[in-house]
Amino acid sequence: MAGITIDNVTKRFGAEDNAVVAVDDVSLDIDDGEFVVFVGPSGSGKSTLLRMVAGLEQQSEGDVVIGDTVVNELGPRARDIAMVFQNYALYPNMTVEENMSFGLKMSTDMDDDEIARTVTDTAEMMGIGNLLDDTPGELSGGQQQRVALGRSIVRDPNVFLMDEPLSNLDAKLRTEMRTEINRLQQDLGVTTLYVTHDQTEAMTMGDRLVVLNYGELQQVGTPLECFYRPANRFVAGFLGSPSMNFFEGRVDGGTLRADGFDYDLTERMQPSVGDRNAVVLGARPEDVTLRDDAGADCEFEAAVDVVEPMGSISYVYLRPTRGDREETFVVEADGQRPIREGETVGVKIPDEDVHLFDAE
Ligand code: ADP
Repeated sequence: MAGITIDNVTKRFGAEDNAVVAVDDVSLDIDDGEFVVFVGPSGSGKSTLLRMVAGLEQQSEGDVVIGDTVVNELGPRARDIAMVFQNYALYPNMTVEENMSFGLKMSTDMDDDEIARTVTDTAEMMGIGNLLDDTPGELSGGQQQRVALGRSIVRDPNVFLMDEPLSNLDAKLRTEMRTEINRLQQDLGVTTLYVTHDQTEAMTMGDRLVVLNYGELQQVGTPLECFYRPANRFVAGFLGSPSMNFFEGRVDGGTLRADGFDYDLTERMQPSVGDRNAVVLGARPEDVTLRDDAGADCEFEAAVDVVEPMGSISYVYLRPTRGDREETFVVEADGQRPIREGETVGVKIPDEDVHLFDAE
């Protein structure tokens, strides 16, 4: 088993003068046994970063260290890693057992009996013990993905690398496999790097998230840290669904003047804003409440544009009645509450749920 260090790693594709910087000077320490999720939108550099750890891509600058070894010059086989992809990559003409034992036959000095035992034990653990004689074509997508996972587990690698392994599965299976991978990772305690563009997957898996955008590291932290204390507007907008609402404004003597409302910053917020003029106030839909009375906190009036009933809750899309803001913001309201499109309601963002960011 092994920790991983990514030290000032950059990857450029293409010619020097118009190269794409896929990964931009990323540094990261991953503990032995840790489950780390790389998350970000498509094209943010997640796969490239993973592939550099795997040895499938050579970094332009920086070092990758697995355990105590700088692996820059080592090919994938010499790195003692196992990779799981979204397209399973099972051998179609081999049985499940043959698929699972193939890597072991190629790369270990285990004898046939040992290999058969290891494969059977792993298949039992993965709930596919009864499928050993089937070929991939006879299996469902979920079963194939279990075989792909099983095949990497039997090799007992130092590190698991998973690149969107669940993205070909339907929603229900995805949820099931999420739980399964979490459980396996905990049981096996193998250092795992997991790539996903899906923020729900990121929030529910992994000890830490590494949030990327345009190849740059945005934040590293536990899912809850990244959700409740996002480092910047990008992270705040990326995690959470529906996305956080943003209100741009300027600070004037301790008051944030946004398009649609003024908000007196609390003492807690003032140092973080400092003398900056342009700021962005963020508030998650589930933190904004609809209310009738006025008080402290961040309050203003807004007109209801669209109501989207979801059952126990509804999403209410609103525009401030004051100012010129065209874009709606969204509030999660009690599904029982009668709200009519076109009516004016009071909106409140509690002080403790106000996030402030630099304007970009
Ligand atoms: P993600 O996994 O977050 O979707 P990628 O790591 O696949 O992002 O890609 C990051 C950036 O690098 C993208 O702009 C992508 O187009 C570019 N890129 C990835 N692989 C190559 C390649 N082999 N050649 C040229 N550009 C690439």
